[in-house]
Amino acid sequence: MLATNRRAFLKAAVAGTVVSALEIPEFASAAAGPIQASPGHYSFTLGAFHITALCDGVFFLPTDSIATNVQADEKKAYFDAHYIAADVFRLQASPLLIDTGEKRILIDTGLGRSTGWAVHAGRVAKTFAAAGITPDSIDTIVLTHCHPDHIGGFGADPAKQFPNAELVLSEIELDLWNSPDAASKLPKWAAETAPAVKKVFAALGDRVHPIKTGTDVVTGVTVLDTAGHTQGHISLLVASANEQLLITGDAAPSIHITFDKPEWHIKWDHDPDKGAKTRRALLDRAANDRLLVAGYHYPFPGVGHVVKDGMGFRWLPTDWVWDS
Ligand SMILES: [Zn+2]
Repeated sequence: MLATNRRAFLKAAVAGTVVSALEIPEFASAAAGPIQASPGHYSFTLGAFHITALCDGVFFLPTDSIATNVQADEKKAYFDAHYIAADVFRLQASPLLIDTGEKRILIDTGLGRSTGWAVHAGRVAKTFAAAGITPDSIDTIVLTHCHPDHIGGFGADPAKQFPNAELVLSEIELDLWNSPDAASKLPKWAAETAPAVKKVFAALGDRVHPIKTGTDVVTGVTVLDTAGHTQGHISLLVASANEQLLITGDAAPSIHITFDKPEWHIKWDHDPDKGAKTRRALLDRAANDRLLVAGYHYPFPGVGHVVKDGMGFRWLPTDWVWDS
């Protein structure tokens, strides 16, 4: 609560007018019908910027792909304690839109409607519509990396789908996936998706812009080197009017396992050792600098803070605040 609002509240409380007699809220009348699912978008301000988390849905990954360097009994005990099933665990996916007032920048794109292995995801187009965002209003799309749950929101014709958007990704990531011998640099499971990634680059042509880490996408949106999950993985530090937001991408993809046990290996990290080191360093920074954090795979809307807890970290989700 803002100080002025707090003073007004206290004054009203003294006067006994905080709750006036029988203020009946007004409900819109509508014909009876099926209750609509949540539109899945949430907006907040960061300085002069307007940030919107856009839910793409949820998908499942096999549990044998996480904690790959941990004994089975230790892993089972952790999973049981955190309500993680023995066979699969859930991840949400939430692209983030940064509206600077001059530019609209979309961070990652979701999984895409044609994704057969994630039937409960691919909702981002619906979420765009529900939030009143048109794809032609997007100026820039930043990919934290090129795994299918981040690049999959590009459909069959990316140039038409986002007619005015440029694509920004790290120069290392672009070279990695575009390389003629990409298969030799990628894990086998990732190499299978390389042709689809190359198709997106080819479709966007000269609208693809590689960027160096440490530089800005636009003023206030800085690219951080968080390699490990992929060789060119980036996170982003967003700053406006003394407020900051750290967008982790997949450097620390789960508020449970990767926060509690940063050193547990994940099959989806191209370099599991480097992924673990990057994860701990990034979470350390988030906790030490008391940064507001947004995580692509965290429970929606995935906005909160990171605190140190024993040898690991703990997630503190923020309260939702509505502007009106
Ligand atoms: Zn991911």
